[in-house]
Amino acid sequence: MTDESDSLKLALRGSSPDDLSQPPPLRLSSKAALFLDFDGTLVDIAAHPDHVEIAKALPTLIETLGEKLEGRLALVSGRALEALDRLLGPVDVAMAGSHGGEFRPCRSAEIHPLADQLPETIARPLGAFARDNGELLVERKPFSMAVHYRGRSDMRTPLLALARELAEAHGADVKDGKMVVEVVMPGSDKGSAVARFMEMPRFAGATPYFIGDDVTDEDAFRAVTAMGGEGILVGPMRETAASWRLESVEHVHAWLTRALAEDPAGTAGMTPDAENAGKAGERPA
Ligand SMILES: [Mg+2]
Repeated sequence: MTDESDSLKLALRGSSPDDLSQPPPLRLSSKAALFLDFDGTLVDIAAHPDHVEIAKALPTLIETLGEKLEGRLALVSGRALEALDRLLGPVDVAMAGSHGGEFRPCRSAEIHPLADQLPETIARPLGAFARDNGELLVERKPFSMAVHYRGRSDMRTPLLALARELAEAHGADVKDGKMVVEVVMPGSDKGSAVARFMEMPRFAGATPYFIGDDVTDEDAFRAVTAMGGEGILVGPMRETAASWRLESVEHVHAWLTRALAEDPAGTAGMTPDAENAGKAGERPA
């Protein structure tokens, strides 16, 4: 994704495109750094956060891409790291959880907190609201608390109002996501997480790409763009700081898998559509 045809495509799209093109194939031989959101990007969003379906090939796909990129791959999710570990199993890649509040440079490393713990003065009233309004699903994380209102869209306005009031009173931020409102402590955003990874030696000099679907990924799209990289939006077109778009989780998997199939030995400069027909067997199981 680093050849000069990319800038040509950007020029052709103009500054306010009606839609974004699909990203060109990822070349693992280029010095790319890949940052991946989880829900809505690598797995389809489910009615309950614990009920997402993990594609069988996904853990291997992530780990193999990470190896090919010499460690320049990280998951950057709104979920707590504990939840990512539980869902994915022992995948040895860098991860940031809780929108960047939890930071882990590799699986064996300690988790560094990048934000302050969420105080009870926010958690208690938010929990009470969820309980008193039909037991909305609450996700308590170290640096944030999310209340999901899927199936109860009438709750969005009062929930958002309460979240904003609490956030303002305690110096926190509000993330207005897909069927979820979350109050997060400062320092806990995906742009900060990406910037933190990019400061690490193994990411030095790399071009960062962030793939994500939600409004909370816009911080990361802006961060990678400021560092000379590009954002890839997943899902329907909307106002976004991303430069490219992939239609669905399935398209993300295909795009990532294709990178491995096309560049099994780190072959530099191979054109995307040539010479790869027989290499599908190199894909991870
Ligand atoms: Mg997402």
